[in-house]
Amino acid sequence: MDREARIFVAGHRGLVGSAIKRALEAQGYRQVLVKSRSELDLLDQRAVARFFAQERPEYVFLAAAKVGGIYANATYPADFLYQNVLIQTNVIHAAHRYGAKKLLFLGSSCIYPKLSPQPIREAYLLTGELEPTNEPYALAKIAGIKMCEAYHRQYGSDFLAVMPTNLYGPYDNFDPQTSHVLPALLRKFHEAKVADAAEVVVWGTGTPKREFLYVDDLADACVFLMKTYRHADIGPIVNIGTGTDLAISELAELIKGIVGFRGSIVFDASKPDGTPRKWLDVSRMEQLGWRASTTLAEGIRKTYDWYLAQQSAVR
Ligand code: GDP
Repeated sequence: MDREARIFVAGHRGLVGSAIKRALEAQGYRQVLVKSRSELDLLDQRAVARFFAQERPEYVFLAAAKVGGIYANATYPADFLYQNVLIQTNVIHAAHRYGAKKLLFLGSSCIYPKLSPQPIREAYLLTGELEPTNEPYALAKIAGIKMCEAYHRQYGSDFLAVMPTNLYGPYDNFDPQTSHVLPALLRKFHEAKVADAAEVVVWGTGTPKREFLYVDDLADACVFLMKTYRHADIGPIVNIGTGTDLAISELAELIKGIVGFRGSIVFDASKPDGTPRKWLDVSRMEQLGWRASTTLAEGIRKTYDWYLAQQSAVR
């Protein structure tokens, strides 16, 4: 991938796409193509085909998706299935049809079985039942993975799917209802501190374990892979994570300390826990020569700084 390569980042306004765009620009790539939703609706097959026919991107990062936390997935299952299948189908097929050299599809660790052995190896895909709280999203993502694999098998397309663990960082969704746990808790602890509240409510029992990757580390991994991978050597999927997880209760304590909240933490066990654990085996990435470099405390601090800067910009 030379510095003049035509690179399309689909979903550049989101958490992942914005980080990939930053990483590419920081590394001196000069032709990073992006389109806002009003310029290019990825749900519209003809519009996507037209865009690929005109722009002929050589490398595609497919980071556009309908995403959300445990509540959003439970509330909008139809949207998660419909929009994700359409977006990825349109983009993957157009990338094939208009001759893209490589495509990196962003999956998720929730595609693995709910009760998978831990740490989760890539080979465990489709070996057991999915977690019901995010099954529609997971099924859409599995279809995308299988599309990359099928296009490789039938057409020799060099398309690869990456499975990041739970992500966080700047440009994340901080909405208390629909966001993922880390941004939700950052906001809850911050608002509780400002209001001098006595307690913060954390959903579930606090016992599920999760692994969190700072989004700039993921972007670094994606650019590294795009430059080096060949589906024929490592495909069809690769896990990306830190190799370390922690309980939601420990995460809550960590965020509480970073934000500087002095009250107490209360667990609301009437809310769902989701999968008990989803700890990724990242040995394949390590063999390829890549490791995450941001510690969880460091990443949360950076994310909190970004959140505070946003808050003051809005005022
Ligand atoms: P998941 O990794 O797909 O289950 O998605 P989430 O990030 O939404 O949730 C992870 C875990 O954190 C689940 O056990 C949630 O119940 C728990 N959790 C605790 N407090 C919150 C919160 O305020 N928001 C969210 N989204 N999850 C929370």
